[in-house]
Amino acid sequence: MSSEQPQSTGTAGAPDEVAPSGVDPRILEALRQYWGYETLRPHQREAIEAGLASRDSLIVMPTGGGKSLCYQIPPLIAGRLDVVVSPLISLMKDQVDGLRQSGYPAAAIHSSITSEEREALRDAIRDNRLRLLFVSPERLMTPTFLDFLGHQRVRAFSIDEAHCISQWGHDFRQEYRRLALLRDRFPDASIHAYTATATERVRKDIVEQAGLRNPKILVGTFDRPNLVYRIQPATDVFAQALETVKRHENEAAIVYCISRKDTEAMAGFLQENGVKAAAYHAGLEKSERALVQESFANETLDVVAATVAFGMGIDRSNVRCVIHAAMPKTIENYQQETGRAGRDGLEAECVLLFTYGDVMKWKRLIRLSAENAPDPEPIIATQEDLLKHMAGFCASAECRHLVLSRYFGQTYPKDNCGACDVCLDELDTMEGATEIAQKILSCVYRVGQSFGVSYVIEVLRGSRSQKVLERGHDQLSTHGLLREIHEKALRHLIFQLVDQGLLVQTQDDRPVLQLGEASPAVLRGEREVALTDPGPVDVKRTGRSADEWSGVDRKLFETLRGVRRDVAAERNVPAFIVLNDATLREMARMRPTTRESMARIPGVGKKKLTELGPRFIEAIRSDCEERGLAADVEVIVPPKRANPSPRPNAQRQRAFEMFDQGASIEAVAKETGRAESTICRYLEGWLEAKPRESLGPWVDQATYSQVMDAARELRADRLTPLYEALNGEVPYSTIRLVLAHARLQDESRGVHGDQRSRS
Ligand code: ADP
Ligand code: ZN
Repeated sequence: MSSEQPQSTGTAGAPDEVAPSGVDPRILEALRQYWGYETLRPHQREAIEAGLASRDSLIVMPTGGGKSLCYQIPPLIAGRLDVVVSPLISLMKDQVDGLRQSGYPAAAIHSSITSEEREALRDAIRDNRLRLLFVSPERLMTPTFLDFLGHQRVRAFSIDEAHCISQWGHDFRQEYRRLALLRDRFPDASIHAYTATATERVRKDIVEQAGLRNPKILVGTFDRPNLVYRIQPATDVFAQALETVKRHENEAAIVYCISRKDTEAMAGFLQENGVKAAAYHAGLEKSERALVQESFANETLDVVAATVAFGMGIDRSNVRCVIHAAMPKTIENYQQETGRAGRDGLEAECVLLFTYGDVMKWKRLIRLSAENAPDPEPIIATQEDLLKHMAGFCASAECRHLVLSRYFGQTYPKDNCGACDVCLDELDTMEGATEIAQKILSCVYRVGQSFGVSYVIEVLRGSRSQKVLERGHDQLSTHGLLREIHEKALRHLIFQLVDQGLLVQTQDDRPVLQLGEASPAVLRGEREVALTDPGPVDVKRTGRSADEWSGVDRKLFETLRGVRRDVAAERNVPAFIVLNDATLREMARMRPTTRESMARIPGVGKKKLTELGPRFIEAIRSDCEERGLAADVEVIVPPKRANPSPRPNAQRQRAFEMFDQGASIEAVAKETGRAESTICRYLEGWLEAKPRESLGPWVDQATYSQVMDAARELRADRLTPLYEALNGEVPYSTIRLVLAHARLQDESRGVHGDQRSRS
């Protein structure tokens, strides 16, 4: 397994740069010509080589990892026709449209093409003008189609979403099973399976079911570094979803809901609040669904509130935000659904809103759906185990990236990801948690350990309902002790105690709360309790997000989006297929106004340069002139402030005091119990308040110069390329610190990043 990180964008180097040694120059040539990229991502090279050598392969990469290039490049170089099996027409259409925009000869055969189109297609195939043919498994396996392909001597089949072949996968499809016959029918052709599914069992099953022979197996890193994960108790899903969506105004978001009714209520609420939103679920008319998909792709619709079942059809690479309005059933589902965010490699946010009621709801559903199986117990046990992991993930306060990587059997290399609520220090620990816990525990005890959560809450909040009065529980000393805490918040606190084993919830039909083993110690005041505050969570802007936008002129970006929308409408294709967001941002950052500088923007290949270049150059030129913006920029633009308004926090306070005395990062970390990377961010905040000429006690001069030299040379301020350029010898946190210091220095000298330019 590799620990390499997929890069978020291609490098913006000159086209005549030396090829990274060892890569077949034909691969790089194709990469440049059709996609305008300079470098391959991890595993792409080996995957492409397997394709060229006609060796079977199984390629496992996370969503957005760049699987498609791996099967798109080999037939191009070999001058042959390869077949790609894909489960959904919408996915095929998007891919084919995208490829054609780049001048790549590809086509799809499906029910909605006309007979003339079909004729033209057959001709193109006979004349060997086509490189990729997309087809559904059903169509592929019909006798006539197999015969036809037999005559074409197809050398390679790629199976996209290959986990559909496995019944252990979360998305098993009967039609995929028949693909096993390909092996017999085309003994000389190689078979290449592609999937984002991470589990070992599914991988083994794919190899077996597809009959792969001595396959090259490549497994990428599952971590998605560009995703920021946040998990919050659902106190008011509508308000929380709205707030999250508003952080991504005019950008694409998906809100996953459990039921159809929920999707409609959510979409309605968002619409009332001025968001362009629509519901999407299986109960809609086919035409309605198509309309939603189309307007989402056209960017006339921003937010889709959807049930999970239909996520596959929603394909847009610049989804900036995925919200779960309820807890998914498994971590696999969560990974799959959040996988739809940030497929373009740019930052995106995933917010999971959960209540403990969700766990109960899933348990009921699991039992219900297993009821009719001949032997339901093992099925229930497996599913409940998966569910337990999901619930544990919600309740934990460990780095989200780390937990996800670990779940998929990979190690996570950083001690602070800088991209989750835990590492960003957003989780609030509650003041007076021990006292609150004591009140809850003693109430459970007073009501005789024989009532459920809701009733305990009623008593704690001082309800005078008939039930409470009849039992005389209004006379208890614990009656009304926590009336100031909202019911939902209280529920969340109680379940945190359950998670910590301080309370036990019985497993029968009417679960009641009982004291756990350690509760007496808490009640006697011998043990402290930590609880996270279920109140509204204060979300910070992440450093990562600032990085991705640094130097990008947002207004120009919006102007360019407009141009892209026009082109998309003229060509009748989705906007993100014309040019992706990473490319538009790079344009709004570098602001190329010549053909030469435009050619250096990653994502602008030859065809796009010729066809779209002039139009975008014109838009950039006039916008820059009008607004006095520097064009053809080639400077370092240091990251924006990481934490614009940090909240007071005891550890941070303490760290600041220690910085005043010149204490080392290590010493402060030890004293405050925080990770060193967190301390580095505190230090950034401290430097903002108290500017310093040098980073004296914290970063030595040699390292400082090394980082700045690399930053100048790369003309980059994004961390990953810098980290790599420094051979991984300088920690991320130090690089950040140096860049932040340099920015502060610049700012204090009155140099404004955006205005500096080469010319
Ligand atoms: P997957 O199929 O694994 O989900 P895609 O093939 O759709 O991922 O690729 C995701 C995005 O990454 C696309 O926008 C694609 O153009 C881009 N991409 C792929 N390979 C590279 C590369 N070598 N350099 C830069 N961008 C790339
Ligand atoms: Zn983290």
